[in-house]
This record gives sequence, C-alpha cells and structure tokens, in this order.
Amino acid sequence: MRHQDNRSSSEGSIYTLAQSGTAKSASTLPYTLILGNGTDLNDNASLNKRAKRKTITNRMVLSLIDIANANGEYDRAKQYWNAFHCQNEVTISNNRIYGKYCKNRFCTICAAIRKAEIINKYYTTISQWEDPHFVTLTVKACKAEKLDEWVKKMYKAFNLIHGRCKKRHQRGNEIKLIGVKSLECNFNPIKKTYNPHFHIIVPNAEVAHLLRKEWIEQWRPIQKANCNYNKYKYTNPAAQDIRKINDLEHALIETIKYGSKIFTEPDLKKKSRLPEDHTIYASALHNIFSAMQGKRLFDRFGFNVLNQTNKSTLSNWVNNYEKWEYSTQACDWVNESTGETLTGYALPMHLRHLLEECINTKLS
Ligand SMILES: [Zn+2]
Repeated sequence: MRHQDNRSSSEGSIYTLAQSGTAKSASTLPYTLILGNGTDLNDNASLNKRAKRKTITNRMVLSLIDIANANGEYDRAKQYWNAFHCQNEVTISNNRIYGKYCKNRFCTICAAIRKAEIINKYYTTISQWEDPHFVTLTVKACKAEKLDEWVKKMYKAFNLIHGRCKKRHQRGNEIKLIGVKSLECNFNPIKKTYNPHFHIIVPNAEVAHLLRKEWIEQWRPIQKANCNYNKYKYTNPAAQDIRKINDLEHALIETIKYGSKIFTEPDLKKKSRLPEDHTIYASALHNIFSAMQGKRLFDRFGFNVLNQTNKSTLSNWVNNYEKWEYSTQACDWVNESTGETLTGYALPMHLRHLLEECINTKLS
C-alpha cells in the first residue's frame, strides 16, 4: 500500500489509497481552498522529482538562513524561510496534488516551474530563427564585495548597447539587435572570485558578431592623453564567445538556468576527485543571490512574443481531501494520521553525502 516504513515500493500504490482516502472523507471535512491546476497523483516521476527538489532546497536554505542571520540580513533570511516552507503542506483532492508555491528563485521547485514556463513561452518563436547563435558576454572576475556593482554595470552596459543599436537600426544604418539573454554567475573556490556573465541566444551570426563587438567596445576605458592605460581592463575580448547552435532546446535550457548553477543536477552528478567540485559554497551562493536581487534574470530584447494568453489562477473549495506534511527526516510528504509517505522518494547516498557533509558555510 502507500509507503509505510520504507520508500522502496512506489509504483501504483498512491492511486488506490488516495481514491479510498478521498471517498472516505467526502462529507465530514470542513471546506478547504485549493489553488491552481494541481499535479496528477499518478505522475510518480514528477512527484519524485518534487520530493528531491524539496529536499535539496530545505537543506541548502537552512545554511543560507544561517549566513543571512550572521550578516544581519534579516529580510533575506525571511525570504529563505519562505522557500523552506514552500509546499510544506500539500492537499490531495480528486487524485490531484495542490500546494502553495513560494515563487522564490532559490527554491528549486519553483525555479523548475519557471524554467518550463519560459521554454513554453519562447521556444516557438526562437525555433523559427534562421541560424541561431549562442553568445557569452563576460566581465573580468571580481571579489564578493564588488559583485553587486559589476552586475549592475553589466545591465547598464547592455542597455546602452541595445539603445544605440536600436537608434542606428531606425536610421537604417545597422541590423536589428534581437535575442534572449540571461544572467549567470560562477564562483571560483580557489581564487574566491565571481564570474558574472550573460548567456545570449541571437537569430544569426551577424547579430552575434555585432553584439560581441559592441560589448568589447563598451568596456574599453576612455583614452586619456599621456596615460599608459590597459586597453581591455574590464573585459577580455577572447572570453567573449560565439557558437553556432545545433541543439536549440538544449541551448535554451542552458540560457534560462535560473539563478545560479550551484543547485542544478549536472553539478550534483559531476564525477570529480577534486574536493572543491563536491563542495557547495553556501556563502558564495548567498552573495550571488544578493547581487541578483531585483534583477530580471531572463529577458528578451528587440522582439515580442506573440499569442500570449493571460493565465488566471484557478481556485476551488473542496471538502474531499487529505492533507500531507513534508518531513525533513523522511525526505517526503507524510500523512500524519497513518504515517505513510507520499512519493516513495529515497534520497540517494551521494546526494545525502553532498547535502549533509559538503555544504561549506564559511563566510567569504
Ligand atoms: Zn517554491
């Protein structure tokens, strides 16, 4: 039946019990409000992923809360707590699961939903571009205390470039600058530096080369007389990369990776002997989130997306439901009255090790 004491048998059991559970409780419970479309209770693969994401978020966010509190950043600590509480309680009604989403970028459940929404929104338009290219624009690596300033400057630089290219295009002097861009930031644990960069997809090679040329030009210091200046002090022309895209969907997923890379699955699977590759640097992640605060991480430029439908949130009062609460110990949602677990998710050893032993919370 449902996952009584271990979580090894998962297939098929949820469906039967939820049906009996909802039928049994139909007339005796007070009404409760459910929001959204819910998730199919039979979609065990997706429920397992959600349990995994919830587990990762909760363990990570506790470290981030400690860091925020140590820095006296109590508002930020509150935001981290919101992510911690995301989907803490779920309601099952008519074989669908409903819960409240925190919509924070440091919540892996909500970030995954956001990623899927962006792909849905942009894929059709971008797949019609004739010869899409991938552009990476960077500035030189910086220390934590300068990260916020450099991220601001990157946005400013991009807006200036976009503005002047638009004017030249309107005068008929230049091609139109079109694309989608997202901000990412890597942390180098050896040098303790940060590398903020834009990942950009553009429709063709011409736009890619124009963008790179303008970016390099934008960061060139103004030449002063008798001044022995470094021509490329802020950005390295060789690091501004252009690549032809062969797998558009993959490129789009790479581009919209929301927030920082530290949470994403490829890093968790990375096979490396270097201890720094198996360490999660929570304070670096905190610094990256702080620099990204209030910034639009993914955006389009030079074009609009057609056929937008306004999504309204569905809500419904129901009295046939079950409430399940997330348990940190079980890494799953537990039915308080029966002790059963919902998804059958079992935390793999390597992930348990990573989350329990490899989170570095030293302030940097
Ligand atoms: Zn969330």
